[in-house]
Amino acid sequence: MPVASKTFQVTVLPGDGIGVDVTREAIRVLEALTPSLDGVNFAFQEYSVGATEFLKNGNPLPEDVLIACGEADAVLLGAMGLPDVRWPDGKEMTPQIDLRERFELYCGLRPIRLYHGNDTPLKGYKAGDIDFVIVRESTEGLFSARLSQSDPAKEEVCDLMRITRTGSERICRSAFKEAEKRRRKCTLVDKANVLPSMVYLRSIFDQVAEEFPDVKTDHLYVDAAALFLVQRPETFDVLVTGNMFGDILSDLAAGLVGGMGMAPSADIGDNCAVFQPSHGTAPDIAGKGIANPVAMILSAALMLEWLDHPETTSGAARIQNAVQTVLEDPANRTPDCKGNLTTTEIADKIIQLL
Ligand code: ATP
Repeated sequence: MPVASKTFQVTVLPGDGIGVDVTREAIRVLEALTPSLDGVNFAFQEYSVGATEFLKNGNPLPEDVLIACGEADAVLLGAMGLPDVRWPDGKEMTPQIDLRERFELYCGLRPIRLYHGNDTPLKGYKAGDIDFVIVRESTEGLFSARLSQSDPAKEEVCDLMRITRTGSERICRSAFKEAEKRRRKCTLVDKANVLPSMVYLRSIFDQVAEEFPDVKTDHLYVDAAALFLVQRPETFDVLVTGNMFGDILSDLAAGLVGGMGMAPSADIGDNCAVFQPSHGTAPDIAGKGIANPVAMILSAALMLEWLDHPETTSGAARIQNAVQTVLEDPANRTPDCKGNLTTTEIADKIIQLL
């Protein structure tokens, strides 16, 4: 049966700092790929967001942008926020968390893959030896406390860790589905030896596991998970965990494969999905043309996979293969990974292979 042609509406939010630099390259990659996709097109609609937008109009995430995100087929986001641009009360802006909460983007996918032995601080690992995904719950957990007010008179502050059945079931299900596409192993990372909320999460993980009899499961306390990620990362396939542990372990995991510039991510909900690199705006190198665009380009590939059209699925694989081929040569790196290429040069090499 012929596949229907389709124009995907993509809301593009370059944001601040290197978000702008790497988004430009990801769009170039998608534009280079499009002519070879049969019947598939992309309509990119770009909006200003983040600290830069706040300085212009007083709101880092204007309502018309949120509406555009809700209506689009997918959202491509660079990075938002600058250390010196804060709310009047001094708090840092976290518009990416606002986006997650507004659209219930509960499933944070953070694939981690080693492309060359030179990129990892671990000895004896080569391309492909490290290949796992962290599935981070992104709408509840300890982050639920972020808007609570503390009473300075009380001389104590208590942050609530919120774990719900609905939130836990859906994130565990997402993780098991991810495992079904991979090596069929799913590890819950928790702190069930100490926290009742984690005992509850573990009980739900075990219940959901019964729906996926082909997936092998185990549990790890978060402290042990940190140790084993460094000692034997090759043993992991899918790790599912709460908001805060996922936040921390994602950065540790990125450090195993070359740093933040190599770590793509997706924040996925039932009706909306945002694709962005795991890194922030890196103001120290913004505008210098040396930001590593690989995480952003791989995030664009995740978007194509998620759009779930036969042409975008094969387009995603082509981008991933092109990235893999380019990175087989350790000289093809930006300075964060001990190379000399610019942001544009590395994207050009990927584009040449498409
Ligand atoms: P956030 O608070 O949102 O995590 P941040 O600026 O504190 O943002 P990142 O931007 O994620 O943290 O990165 C920290 C440092 O890592 C940067 O200052 C930069 O030196 C380096 N870095 C991050 N991403 C990249 C990249 N894509 N290319 C090169 N270097 C990067």
